Amino acid sequence: MTVADARPLALDDWFVRDLGGLYRPWQAAPAPSPELVALNEGLAAALGLDAAALRTPEGVAVLAGAAVPAGATPVAQAYAGHQFGNYSPRLGDGRALLLGELLDADGGLRDLHLKGSGRTPFARGGDGKAPLAPMLREYVIGEAMHALGVPTTRALAVVTTGEEVVRETVQPGAVLARVASSHLRVGTFQYAAATQDADLLRRLTDHAITRHHPHAADAERRALALLEAVVEVQASLIARWMTVGFIHGVMNTDNMTISGETIDYGPCAFMDAFDLSTVFSSIDHGARYAYGNQPRVAAWNLARFAESLLSLIGSEIGGDAERAAELASEVVSSFGERYTRHWSAGLHVKLGLDDEQPELVQDLLELLAAQHPDHTRFFRALSTAARGDAAPVRDLVIDREAVDAWLDRWRAALDAQGRPVEEVADAMDRVNPVYVPRNHLVEEALAAGVAGDLEPFHRLVDVLARPFEERPGLEEYAAPAPGGSAAYVTYCGT
Ligand code: AMP
Ligand code: MG
Repeated sequence: MTVADARPLALDDWFVRDLGGLYRPWQAAPAPSPELVALNEGLAAALGLDAAALRTPEGVAVLAGAAVPAGATPVAQAYAGHQFGNYSPRLGDGRALLLGELLDADGGLRDLHLKGSGRTPFARGGDGKAPLAPMLREYVIGEAMHALGVPTTRALAVVTTGEEVVRETVQPGAVLARVASSHLRVGTFQYAAATQDADLLRRLTDHAITRHHPHAADAERRALALLEAVVEVQASLIARWMTVGFIHGVMNTDNMTISGETIDYGPCAFMDAFDLSTVFSSIDHGARYAYGNQPRVAAWNLARFAESLLSLIGSEIGGDAERAAELASEVVSSFGERYTRHWSAGLHVKLGLDDEQPELVQDLLELLAAQHPDHTRFFRALSTAARGDAAPVRDLVIDREAVDAWLDRWRAALDAQGRPVEEVADAMDRVNPVYVPRNHLVEEALAAGVAGDLEPFHRLVDVLARPFEERPGLEEYAAPAPGGSAAYVTYCGT
């Protein structure tokens, strides 16, 4: 099969046909000598793509943006956004292109998008490029999130371009081929609303409903129903982040999807020691996007989403602006209750609890906040405690009496459920991972990759693909950084 027959060429242009006004047709910058660094064979298969064809020079050229698949209309998407609370009316894809949509093996529509493919009309002062390390980071963290069951965009491939990119260091330039259920963001709606073109906002809303929240199509108040659907998927998403200890790091409204997928892995990281105030990002001086702030920030972003829909919500109820604001505000306010429901349900499953035990869960959270055990290891060790050996849990805390007291209550609650302990412990092991992308391991893999050795990167990706299955010989992947990671800092990677 040649790449001309391969599926990347069978791209749809639904976004382009539907949403004139929200993009600029654009071409990628030429890549002098594109080279495939990583190809996600599992994802390629799920997309019905021929991995062998993607590895040919023609396939690599498509993944680098150097060749446009026949019939495709690459575009830079327009969006606005609140960055760290400040509104920018015109962000958009400064260094990225949407190539088009393709159907995956299950019949779902997926965006194929390139990041690092050169300057676009939205580039402002940026060079349009992406260094290799952050693109590899996006690949590895996205795959880890996917394997952990967290909705996410995913990397199909990373290609080096043959150019150098200058940041703090000089790195190989790279293009990430990214797959997402769409790239519609809260910021896309903010942009559309700011144009004051009611037809554009209506088309965008209809497109988003058809694509992501089709049940809202039958609602009497469609824009309000879309708002509610997005509030719900985001409440669920953020709860998933919190249960795995994921810190996004740059939850600007342009980095929040309408689909409910995690997007834009910049200065993100997994928390080691449990601490609500954990921040890794070098640019997050005010700790706005700290681990424990994420639910609050999501609600704030959703309020911005609601504002962008207000005119439509108003027109759906006969033009009563005040009532529209009330209705929208009610829906946004429901985030707290929805989030708490998802978060609590997630914690109960992690703890093997069938029935609601709010006090037990609350007391555990207080214990974690006071004792700062390694988040991932603590939850994983609980299944061993359920099986009768509390030592691995006790080893992670300073105040062992406090943890013993909690463990006694917890085991009593498990006993009262009447399910065999082994069954409960096995179920816990299916939701509490052994392996998460530990910051020091990610850094090591990226540094080696930039120096030309991709082996540690591929090995890490392999380990993280099966996070719940403890395997001998992989102990170092389950351990925190040798000297602790208190001083760990992530950079935005632009
Ligand atoms: P991000 O922080 O990656 O979500 O990006 C925020 C905005 O900055 C988006 O509009 C990006 O397209 C733009 N941007 C980031 N890096 C670059 C770059 N190197 N060149 C041009 N635009 C960029
Ligand atoms: Mg972004």
